[in-house]
Amino acid sequence: MLKRYEKFLEKLDKKLEKYFEEQCEFIKCKMGCSACCEVGEYPFSRLEAEYLMSGYMKLPADVQKQVKENIKQLKNDNPKLYRCPFLINHLCAVYKYRGIVCRTHGLAWYDEDEEKIKLPYCVNLGLNYSKVFDRETGAVFLQDPIKARLRIDSILRSPLAEEYELECGEIRPLVKWF
Ligand code: SF4
Repeated sequence: MLKRYEKFLEKLDKKLEKYFEEQCEFIKCKMGCSACCEVGEYPFSRLEAEYLMSGYMKLPADVQKQVKENIKQLKNDNPKLYRCPFLINHLCAVYKYRGIVCRTHGLAWYDEDEEKIKLPYCVNLGLNYSKVFDRETGAVFLQDPIKARLRIDSILRSPLAEEYELECGEIRPLVKWF
């Protein structure tokens, strides 16, 4: 199953890469910027959590220890929004194995169900899409947003996911998998 999931991720990454290119005038993502991993819930399906942990198993012992300590602290504090425990020195320790939500970090898209544009968290920090966002009124002046619904549940139910016959299982906030 993880092999099929990897094949699916290859295709998904290509699709997302295209979105990032199309939206490049609004994107300020760069190496070392971890804003999207600093505050969130990070919904992960069971399949994604398994894949993430296969990456964790490959980490050096000292990094595994740091991740474990971060998780222990989070389990103790139990916050709704939190810094991802896999974020070490502003970098994702399991980048190749990160979840679907992580891959969409930084993009804005139009949610047909809610009839509104969903902006990335970092717009509030003056980063992605900040030039088309009025912080005073909350208005968004984005002419051509991505039309695909970039929510994890929609992606996992998309024709692309169906093609790979993924059994993704339940979706939970990342920390609830530990
Ligand atoms: S798994 Fe990696 S990319 Fe995803 S939220 Fe955590 S640190 Fe960020």
